Amino acid sequence: MAILRWWRMRPRHPVATEARLAIDYYKILGVPRSADPSDIKKAYRKLARKYHPDVNPGNDEAEKKFKGIQEAYAVLSDSKKKKQYDTFGTVDGDPTAGFDPFRRARGRASGQGPEGFRVDFDGMGGFQDLGDIFSQFFGGARGGRTRPAPRRGADQEIAVEVTFADAVQGTTISLPVQRQLQCSTCGGTGASQRGGCPSCHGAGVVISTERMRVKVPEGVADGNKVRVAGKGAEGNQGGSPGDLFVRVTVRPHAFFEREGDDVRTTIPVTFAEAYLGGEVEVGTIHGPVRAKVPPGTNSGRTFRLRGKGVRNTKTRAFGDHLYTVEIVVPKVVSPAGEEAARRVGELYKGNPRDSLPRTL
Ligand SMILES: [Zn+2]
Repeated sequence: MAILRWWRMRPRHPVATEARLAIDYYKILGVPRSADPSDIKKAYRKLARKYHPDVNPGNDEAEKKFKGIQEAYAVLSDSKKKKQYDTFGTVDGDPTAGFDPFRRARGRASGQGPEGFRVDFDGMGGFQDLGDIFSQFFGGARGGRTRPAPRRGADQEIAVEVTFADAVQGTTISLPVQRQLQCSTCGGTGASQRGGCPSCHGAGVVISTERMRVKVPEGVADGNKVRVAGKGAEGNQGGSPGDLFVRVTVRPHAFFEREGDDVRTTIPVTFAEAYLGGEVEVGTIHGPVRAKVPPGTNSGRTFRLRGKGVRNTKTRAFGDHLYTVEIVVPKVVSPAGEEAARRVGELYKGNPRDSLPRTL
């Protein structure tokens, strides 16, 4: 098993460098700091649907959580507030910014969420009550379910770079994977007796780094994704976990060039080998092979070694090795060489360029 020389990891859900934030809105919505507006909206809808008071009647904790989710969304969905929050870690703490996004809200529709969350209904685009938000986003479905249904965890993706050799031979790599897990302190509810859960800040989930061994199959190609079942985000309410996808980037090789399941190389031969024919050594990914060069072989001619290519990950069949001959003319010109070349030249009948067009 080849050892992975180096790899690079690009988590799809990078965890913010432990942000020094009093309240981590990203954590509350369970999105990375790099999330775009549509991801933020999606995450918000999902959580709001789950914790909406209409589906959790009489559940104070769910309501508190719902308010926290709303506050997070109110900030992160507003580019101005988001920028201020990203910069200062708070929306109203920066004296230089000179504006208080909650000022108006405090006078009217604001409420207190867990741990003093301020809820800014203005940020929701003018909705005045939770029911309005619910019907706007979720088609008016109210009431009914008393308990959220189990939901499968999200798939996660990370990227690794492997050497050409590791890709064609297969390898096992060990890499740290950041997984979204249910918070064990609050059991995924995001709430504690005193309000928001101190471990997950009300998000109900935490990010944990696990070292995982991932088998990269023989023949994996650049851009392939290796699926590791059940190693994505944990599901909630007993839902099954998502999958982990390891996207493989293959570092190009200096000599071997891959083309599907085939491998191509260029093999230099001497004039004598090309003219007289002979046997040359051709390096393949399976080791060196003695290969024929027929008499009278021209530069650029390609030959095929069957079954000496890359194993297909699905069919398990091997591709071929294609080697292209390149005649190398000696650099050193000697009187004897000149004499030999002249004699060879006299043996040619006609002009090899006769059949070429002479112009447009
Ligand atoms: Zn928690």
